[in-house]
Amino acid sequence: MTIATLSFTSSFTPHHTFHHRRRRHHLLKPTTKISSQVSLTTPPSITLQPTLKKTGVIVVGAGLAGLAAAIRLHSDNIPFLLVEASDGVGGRVRTDNVDGFLLDRGFQIFITGYPEARRILDYEALDLQKFYSGAKVYYGGGFHTVADPLRHLGDAIQSLTNPIGTIVDKSLIALTRIRVLTQSDDQIFSAEETSTINLLKRIGFSDSIVDRFFRPFFGGIFFDRDLETTSRLFDFIFKCLALGDNTLPAKGISAIPEQLASKLPSNSIILNTPVKSIDSDSESESSHTVRLNNGETLKAEYGVIIAVEEPEAVKLLAGKSNDIPVQIKPPRSTVCLYFSADRAQVPVPDPVLFINGSGHGIVNNMFFATNVAPSYGPPGKVLVSVSLIGLYEDVSDEDLKTKVVEELSGWFGKEVSVGSWKYLRSYRVKFAQPNQCPPTDLQKNPKLGLGLYVCGDYRTSATFDGALVSGRKAAEALLKDRSLVQAS
Ligand SMILES: Cc1cc2nc3c(=O)[nH]c(=O)nc-3n(C[C@H](O)[C@H](O)[C@H](O)COP(=O)(O)OP(=O)(O)OC[C@H]3O[C@@H](n4cnc5c(N)ncnc54)[C@H](O)[C@@H]3O)c2cc1C
Repeated sequence: MTIATLSFTSSFTPHHTFHHRRRRHHLLKPTTKISSQVSLTTPPSITLQPTLKKTGVIVVGAGLAGLAAAIRLHSDNIPFLLVEASDGVGGRVRTDNVDGFLLDRGFQIFITGYPEARRILDYEALDLQKFYSGAKVYYGGGFHTVADPLRHLGDAIQSLTNPIGTIVDKSLIALTRIRVLTQSDDQIFSAEETSTINLLKRIGFSDSIVDRFFRPFFGGIFFDRDLETTSRLFDFIFKCLALGDNTLPAKGISAIPEQLASKLPSNSIILNTPVKSIDSDSESESSHTVRLNNGETLKAEYGVIIAVEEPEAVKLLAGKSNDIPVQIKPPRSTVCLYFSADRAQVPVPDPVLFINGSGHGIVNNMFFATNVAPSYGPPGKVLVSVSLIGLYEDVSDEDLKTKVVEELSGWFGKEVSVGSWKYLRSYRVKFAQPNQCPPTDLQKNPKLGLGLYVCGDYRTSATFDGALVSGRKAAEALLKDRSLVQAS
């Protein structure tokens, strides 16, 4: 990965006097102490001034949850620092630029119907590029269209008699849509729950639509082809899909966290700085000390918001609250492989998602990213994105690539020379999403104790939106405790 070398410097000053300079990422700006020129991939050694390490709130983790928490604090002019272990903002929502191709770190779709996202993001500035509302299902050696009748009526009528479900199934989809649209998000998240597969059976969907459509489509969203994920998450996603479009930002999925970070004040984000531990102070109830991996400490007068992913939260918060489990359910994992191709080697120009309804093979879904957003590749080139569910730890990248090429050659037949596609890179994401099988609580209280708050997608719905909501709510819990906002 080629990333520009940037100068990284720091000194800690109290109460929001950090300033940042934005190039590709937010960085600390020289004030008094300078360290060295570092690559964003190399953790810098930050030297802190011992007397100047205090702020109002420390937010740990600059994923969507941490960014949303920071934005909420900033809207109330609360001094804060956002401390991030890695070399950029976004957490799981990052994009790499490889030879002019925008490679999202795993296949991600931004659904415009997400309610919190609508409130906090500027969609126009994200230049969102739409997917076809539906999918092409690979089944029985061919492709069959499943289309949203409200957006592609003609296709939907044509698809009524295809083998991806019965006509009854297609009317049940319409009824499910009405059911979720007539419920509030709160009702959905607190509804009686079961697994998604049980819900689908209870509604009366046939095995053919479950196996050929729901398993690859929602299994691809949950990274769970068994559809053991809670029915609450299914209903929420189904509702958001009905309310909005599936999109990609023209500049890559990382444009979302980067837009959020750009709303924060200069030098409020510190990159390459893993937090090691958090301890409450004796002198004040809410004050906490945050110890960094490099041995330095920071003090947060009003409290700390921990916005790291679930396995990290378990480590950082071990023994601090019964609300944080000692052991978590096995997370959801995925592998995403990227290829480049010439235009002639691509079967369709459509911005459509292909899903595997055949019940065979390792590919769950794939699409031609440049068909959705031409900016995802250099002129004349096509970016191919292929997703698998699970981590395939015992299979090498080379073997996975070979299997995928063989499988897709079978999908697309002789007219498309899949073998000529150039392999670019794979991403194996072990913790793609928290496991949200029942029983779940998707509205967990962010407060662990006075001055200690948690957020992240594992506290709400395992979605962009859930992460954003949880970050805002953690900040609001802190503000309420500090009586810095009127209780609503
Ligand atoms: C491949 C993939 C596809 C996805 N697809 C979708 C999708 O299509 N739609 C959707 O809605 N959601 C999708 N998701 C889920 C979505 O990305 C997450 O729910 C959301 O981004 C979680 O945000 P977060 O802030 O809770 O956690 P994270 O993004 O994990 O952020 C946590 C941050 O904390 C930092 N951190 C960890 N430990 C420390 C430490 N000790 N000190 C300092 N910092 C630390 C991490 O580096 C990270 O930046 C997908 C996820 C993946 C991986």
